[in-house]
Amino acid sequence: MGCWSLSSRERPFYRVIQFNIEDPYGFYADRINALSLVEMALRAHANTLIVFARDPWGRVFYRDSNVYPRHPNALLDLEELRLVTKRRGLNLIIMVCHTANRFIYRKHPEYAQRNRDGEVIVLEHFPVAGRVVDPHWPQICPNSPALEEYFVPEAREATDRIRPEGVLLDSFRYMPDPPKACYCKYCRSRFRREYGVDLPEAVNEEDPTFRLAWEWRYRVTIEAMSRIRDAVRREKGDTLFLYNSHPVGWAGRGNIVVEKARSILDGVFAEASEFDIVDYPLIVMATKLTRALLGAGKPVFVSRNLFYTLRTTQSATRIAVKQGVRSIVAAGGYPVATIFSSQFFEDPRALDYLTEVYSELERLEEYLVDVEPVRYAATVFSSDTHDKYFWERPDMYLAELEGLTRILASSHMPVEFLSTVDLELKSKDYSVLVLPSLAVIGSREEKLLEGYVERGGVLLATAEFGIMEPDHTYRHSLALENIIGVTFEGFLRMGYSYLHLNVSPTVYNEYWRGLPESIVFGDQSIRFERGRTEKMLGDLVRVKPVTAKILALTRTPKARYGFEYALGKTTPPPDSTLEKAAGIVMAEHGRGLILYYAVRVGAHYSRLGHPDYAELILRTLNKHAPKPPIRVYAPETVQAEFYRKGDRLIVHLVNHTYNQRILTAPTGPSKQSLPPFIPPYSVHPPRTVIPITNISIVLSTGNREDYIAYDAISNQRIDVAKEGSTSTIKLRQLNEYALVVIEPKH
Ligand SMILES: [Zn+2]
Repeated sequence: MGCWSLSSRERPFYRVIQFNIEDPYGFYADRINALSLVEMALRAHANTLIVFARDPWGRVFYRDSNVYPRHPNALLDLEELRLVTKRRGLNLIIMVCHTANRFIYRKHPEYAQRNRDGEVIVLEHFPVAGRVVDPHWPQICPNSPALEEYFVPEAREATDRIRPEGVLLDSFRYMPDPPKACYCKYCRSRFRREYGVDLPEAVNEEDPTFRLAWEWRYRVTIEAMSRIRDAVRREKGDTLFLYNSHPVGWAGRGNIVVEKARSILDGVFAEASEFDIVDYPLIVMATKLTRALLGAGKPVFVSRNLFYTLRTTQSATRIAVKQGVRSIVAAGGYPVATIFSSQFFEDPRALDYLTEVYSELERLEEYLVDVEPVRYAATVFSSDTHDKYFWERPDMYLAELEGLTRILASSHMPVEFLSTVDLELKSKDYSVLVLPSLAVIGSREEKLLEGYVERGGVLLATAEFGIMEPDHTYRHSLALENIIGVTFEGFLRMGYSYLHLNVSPTVYNEYWRGLPESIVFGDQSIRFERGRTEKMLGDLVRVKPVTAKILALTRTPKARYGFEYALGKTTPPPDSTLEKAAGIVMAEHGRGLILYYAVRVGAHYSRLGHPDYAELILRTLNKHAPKPPIRVYAPETVQAEFYRKGDRLIVHLVNHTYNQRILTAPTGPSKQSLPPFIPPYSVHPPRTVIPITNISIVLSTGNREDYIAYDAISNQRIDVAKEGSTSTIKLRQLNEYALVVIEPKH
């Protein structure tokens, strides 16, 4: 414990508590000192603490700063905390350079980030119709003199005084999105100086300066980050430099920053604490996606709040805390339990729940460090697609990514993420590559994918696959169109569309038996302002089959919306089959093959969870893709994750089968609507885990030796039945969590 290393081989398994003293007046700060934080961490079996060196009001938690005032009534002294954490073998990470800074703002209002209308950009939450007045969390611009006058000296001073193991650049936010982008005088003059044109105010993706400004804002962010990192490293060369990303927030721009800045980052704090308001697979995705974008096996810290939704004074339930932490660990992240001062005094029960799960992780450390994920399928993420094609609708891209990944993960095969920048080096590690709406790819990537298929890989692509080049030009074809054996003929945007599965009795029996003849795509709009359907969701990519094997055709809807039930919001029935527009096709090439889907299957599964959408993917993969080397047979509510360590296989099984977990969808407005009668917002936490019986882990062992298996938590042996080239491990019962270790019998 206590050792901190860039090398994964020497890295301990970090169990982190982030303790935030975060209010302007320090309501509880006069009762929190170094000893109380260290005692809390040790009691909870944490080995790492994250705290503010400087808070968003611009006060520091140490003495005699040359940059900022000291927090007026905080007892906490970080220099003392450093001494005590060292003595007790705890790692210390300090948070610096939050772009929210009220001190700088009051002193230099001109250093603030300002939107096109000159209004200060804030990180706090103001009601939408209100005016921003005297904000608590005004954002400071990294293009202003604040970078050299405050941020860099702040990072240098804090590193020098506190000598932490890590420095976390907390909420360092400078967005490219027009409503949140900065147009302060420093940004305007720097852009004009560098490019000879004014920073464009109009939102117009077809304006070259708009595109330039978008890219430029990332560059500004990363240059400022580099500047701060260099200052930190000069003070203490072995300090880990960490960035606070919001992988499922901030329009996904944090993901792009992580990928672009990966060479200067030693790790990422993926703030993904929305376990209470989103389903756990999104947190799993945030963890794995961040690992892929950061690359090189660098540590990814992922948060689970100890409080419940936005209620910082109220403990989350025992199960929410424990299963939240386990889902992060199983996904390959280091858990960060976040707590604020008020909860620490008013309702600290969640710390007891954390103790249960952190002490368990401490015992399991041997199985958590120095492991490699089992690589079988990977979902490919493209920052170009995210930012050049889906720049206005990142949620639609995320839905397609999340849905396809969830389909694979819920059938319990190993699934990871892979960034397009790593295609060349890493694609060979995977048997299956999933390309969700991969709209933007260059000819180089296209060639790499072609080679991947030739060598035996299976590609599964959906929707607008490769229709755009990285230079924003249209290909007017799909990527690999000649290999797929189709011709791209544009889009059919009718709100709704259908896949027609009964292409012929042979195909139907071979692939789709038991499914309906046609499956609907598209859904009601949640906004329901002018359009009735969710924009983009039901789009059909029109592809004419040439040589491809047709597994499904498409059908038009009979009307633009349905007349039944909630007339105007329901689905219209199917009309004519489009014989010249394929819905699902397959083509073999070299030793591999490509499956192409002309609709957003993932986004539909993500949104609706109807098993028919999952079947469309799983049936073709089960038939045509190589078998996964290991697979779990369990209900979809079990999270299964697979790792190797030497000749050991390690399987995490986290049981998310809960007695009660209710997420209510808003029905959305319309002219017909009355004031809601059903309460529109229900976020019930999980309270009890329902045990699952008879889970099988099936392992392809070839003709290698026999295996033994045990649950590392209970230390109980589990029977292994060998039959031919597979071994089956049967778990009689899964309660909350099992960590199954499978190793050769010696
Ligand atoms: Zn600015």
